[in-house]
Amino acid sequence: MKKDILSMNISEIQSLLSTYREPSYRATQIFEWLHKRKANTFQDMDNLPKNLRAVLEENCRITHCKLAEIYSSARDDTQKFLFELEDGTFIESVRMQYNFGHSICISTQAGCRMGCKFCASAIGGLLRNLTAGEMCSQVYAVSELPKNKQLNDSQATAPNIVLMGCGEPLDNFDQVIRFIELIGHPKGENVGARHITVSTCGLVPQIIELADLNLQITLAISLHGPDDRIRKSIMPIANRYSIHELIESCRYYLNKTNRRITFEYALIRDFNDHVDHALKLSKLLAGLLCHVNLIPVNPAAGDYSSTLRQEAEAFSSILQRNNIKATIRRTIGSDVDAACGQLRAKKLPR
Ligand code: SAH
Repeated sequence: MKKDILSMNISEIQSLLSTYREPSYRATQIFEWLHKRKANTFQDMDNLPKNLRAVLEENCRITHCKLAEIYSSARDDTQKFLFELEDGTFIESVRMQYNFGHSICISTQAGCRMGCKFCASAIGGLLRNLTAGEMCSQVYAVSELPKNKQLNDSQATAPNIVLMGCGEPLDNFDQVIRFIELIGHPKGENVGARHITVSTCGLVPQIIELADLNLQITLAISLHGPDDRIRKSIMPIANRYSIHELIESCRYYLNKTNRRITFEYALIRDFNDHVDHALKLSKLLAGLLCHVNLIPVNPAAGDYSSTLRQEAEAFSSILQRNNIKATIRRTIGSDVDAACGQLRAKKLPR
């Protein structure tokens, strides 16, 4: 099996080169070719000696995402991409454009084993973890594809990267951390941790481990309910860790990193969207440095209907009155099946 060079950091490329008796400064050149100049082949690396290019070609491969389909929203500027990996696995990424820039949403696993009932990524379970290189490759592939709407220069800032596609990032912890290191490297794409959001359904030990790394990323927690009873009925992970343990791990994360946490709350009609739920949630989050993202649920999987705008606003104002910052997320991309896992699910055998 050829080595996955896009997943290697500079010191790993150095050790690889030492086995070929090549000088270590070549590692930085190769890293730049891969992560800054986005070379697709070793032959493109024209400042490397020909024989080194040949050795690399023989022993290594450059992972890339082959575009299978693009879906562009007619209503907004969301584009959803279905990519095929070398082994035939399908994954999906999304680009969301706003007036002030854009975000790229990537997948961290093909499928997911967390089993949240409303989420299309759970359909068919986990196929496999993605490598850090496959995560980088999604960012690079999306960046190269033409946008729906060209932004002017002052708006064309570095993208935000959100790990909210298919998969549970903290269930693929090492590769996700490696991805953050690779994509943030100044010799490569150079995306600062502050531009990266990692979203989790609530794997408590990994949240603690992440806190100890003290990265400056944004942590998003998929809460979706103010108590164990509601969470357990839609999110199997809630049977493993109580909401109390989850909030305690968030407190630990905040103490370590001082980074505001985002709580995601999918509003499901007549299930978790009543006044008493909003009051309970306010109590739960009181005093935490956080922001609540209210997302009218996308009926992607299961039999859930979405809270109406008026009720979502009422829910939001209860939180605000209790000094908890909250926004209702625009439901962009719903006409391109942009909720996680929806596209890929169509490619799964039935
Ligand atoms: N596994 C991670 C990240 C992937 S999902 C997590 O659970 O956080 C990104 C967000 O989209 C999560 O908050 C997830 O709960 C939410 N989501 C999934 N399906 C959804 C749907 N049909 N409607 C609204 N939000 C959904």
